[in-house]
Amino acid sequence: MHIEVKHVSKTFGTHKAVSDVSFGIERGKLIGLLGPSGGGKSTLLRILAGLESPDSGDVYINGKRVNDVPPQQRGIGFVFQNYALFKHMNVYDNIAFGLTIRKADKKEITARVEELLDLTGLRGFERRYPHQLSGGQRQRVAFARALAPRPELLLLDEPFAAIDAKVRKELRTWLKQLIATIGITSVFVTHDQDEAVEVADEMLIVQQGRLEQQGPPLAVYTAPQTAFVASFIGHSSVIEKPQLLRGFEHRAELNGGRAIIRPEFVEVGREREIAYPSAAAKGTIRHVFFRGAHLELDVQVGDNRVSAYRSLDQEPLKPGEEVYVLIHRLYHITDQSAVMLENPLKVDPLPVHI
Ligand code: ADP
Ligand code: MG
Repeated sequence: MHIEVKHVSKTFGTHKAVSDVSFGIERGKLIGLLGPSGGGKSTLLRILAGLESPDSGDVYINGKRVNDVPPQQRGIGFVFQNYALFKHMNVYDNIAFGLTIRKADKKEITARVEELLDLTGLRGFERRYPHQLSGGQRQRVAFARALAPRPELLLLDEPFAAIDAKVRKELRTWLKQLIATIGITSVFVTHDQDEAVEVADEMLIVQQGRLEQQGPPLAVYTAPQTAFVASFIGHSSVIEKPQLLRGFEHRAELNGGRAIIRPEFVEVGREREIAYPSAAAKGTIRHVFFRGAHLELDVQVGDNRVSAYRSLDQEPLKPGEEVYVLIHRLYHITDQSAVMLENPLKVDPLPVHI
């Protein structure tokens, strides 16, 4: 393991910001550290950087315990949300800064800055000052500056949070490619699940200072291990009376419990459109929302409300219309876990002879 965090805790006053967190990061991986605001992401990152010291637990880089190693000796590059560029320095000097203070050889500095200008697409901008750049360009300077001293770990704390949505998407793709090219171990903090899913090789989900789950985006999405992860990742409806849903009436464990259903688990439509009508219940369309590429349906089924998607190519459904609702599967939520249950009524219909 390149980076190891073992049983790290940190309390501010009486508030436990990080609570017994342990994880490992393999060399060259891009980790998405994801969780709600106030969950402890920045504190964890600052502990990795040495800007904050843990109350208990240990941090290892390359197998060496670094608890007592000061930040500037840990070989870390840090990029923050608020550009934090030096306003009075041009792009070239900003990128060169980390090398200049280390009193690197002048030729060496020039060569490295030139290389980074190319790598980050900033060639031609080297004489500009931060106020003459767009938000996206400033963040690229911040990357180049962090990378200049060849850190072995790159830490990014919500680097795109202050940038508008379209540019943010472009920067994500750019960043993922850049990091893959350089091959540097990186931790990317975000509260935006789409950003984490798109960028990360592996995700760490934190909430209230605890690590809820670690794994590749697809695994976290398809197999959430905790109730929190099941509700936080993906778009989900919380179902208070899952034992009333068609197909799940005989699951004793659902009595008095809750379930989470994602829109992609639900098929809504006219009878002939549904793959297994006998496994479906009747429901009523309450609202239809236009979501750009598809429609989102809000549907009443008995005492429960579920969301489903509908393609724009299909016949439109209107509020008030009676429809068939097939719940393919759901997550049963308990205090500690999220267990997926399949609808057992989904059996192949009899073949039709024409
Ligand atoms: P995140 O980055 O996930 O939003 P933080 O790590 O910044 O969360 O904060 C976690 C919790 O710790 C928050 O409740 C925050 O108010 C608290 N906290 C963070 N840093 C300090 C500090 N220096 N002093 C007191 N409380 C802090
Ligand atoms: Mg933060």
